[in-house]
Amino acid sequence: MTKIGFIGLGNMGGPMAANLAKAGFAVTATDLSIGAVDRAVEAGCARGATVADTVKEADIVVTMLPAGAHVRSVYTESYGVIANAKSGALFIDSSTIDVDSARAVIAAASEKGFSMVDAPVSGGVAAATAGTLTFMVGGEADAFERSKPALEKMGKNIFHAGAAGNGQVAKICNNMLLGISMIATCEAFNLAGKLGLDAQTFFDISSTASGQCWSMTSYCPAPGPVPNAPSNRDYQPGFAAAMMLKDMRLAQEAAHKAKAATPLGAQSEAIYALMEAAGKDGLDFSGVMKLINGEL
Ligand code: NAD
Repeated sequence: MTKIGFIGLGNMGGPMAANLAKAGFAVTATDLSIGAVDRAVEAGCARGATVADTVKEADIVVTMLPAGAHVRSVYTESYGVIANAKSGALFIDSSTIDVDSARAVIAAASEKGFSMVDAPVSGGVAAATAGTLTFMVGGEADAFERSKPALEKMGKNIFHAGAAGNGQVAKICNNMLLGISMIATCEAFNLAGKLGLDAQTFFDISSTASGQCWSMTSYCPAPGPVPNAPSNRDYQPGFAAAMMLKDMRLAQEAAHKAKAATPLGAQSEAIYALMEAAGKDGLDFSGVMKLINGEL
């Protein structure tokens, strides 16, 4: 039986580890939070007392951590994954982190003879629980193939995005596009309303015309046209503006380093930062509608 060491049992990692255990993997799980480990044990995982204890017998190590600094620490420090994993283990980092950290950690693993992929996800807690995440995977082709049996138990769509770090590139570029398109959609619905065109009529026209986009047709930020969109429950997430802001900041950091012009990405980051400054970044990111129409 394949043994998996799982580190980071938060909102996403908890249900992901549970799905691996449910699928029959022997999962040992750890987190800084004892409560999170208790829940994983209830879901069928074995308790990992430390990171070293969690990875020492694992064939595959999966990490789901907040940011690049946590991933660098958990992999490269003496208490961590690289120093304590058994030879031949495969590492999968599913955290959303900066491209440089992803590439640096994969290089450090590779230097010690380990295969590793970056495999960030699209889809929130509901998709993590249902096992329907989308994984964007960067790394060598053979490491990608080895990661698939585990990823398939946590997700529905598994894409190989190319070399190490490219999973993170796909993730932040997609979310930068989403973040921009949501603000543009809010502006259009707000302007239409101010000019006397109601949201449903504008939706009916624009969703079949050239302004159509996912932010409109699947997640309309104006209440009414898309019944299950967060706009119909006073913008309760969903996907919190704070998380969108994290991804927009990662995109800008990468854009600066790559000298890529992303003027709309920069402006959009600044707009989500206004939601943070207003203390409203716990709202869904489509709640940017409230900022645009002057309600925040
Ligand atoms: P979270 O904060 O709920 O969970 C992170 C967990 O990591 C926490 O339980 C924390 O205690 C643990 N942790 C931190 N440092 C640790 C260490 N040194 N050792 C062991 N455990 C440690 O975050 P989340 O919402 O589960 O998100 C995880 C990652 O997934 C983030 O990178 C996030 O951007 C990304 N993501 C989240 C969502 C979402 O909807 N929540 C969607 C897509 C991607």
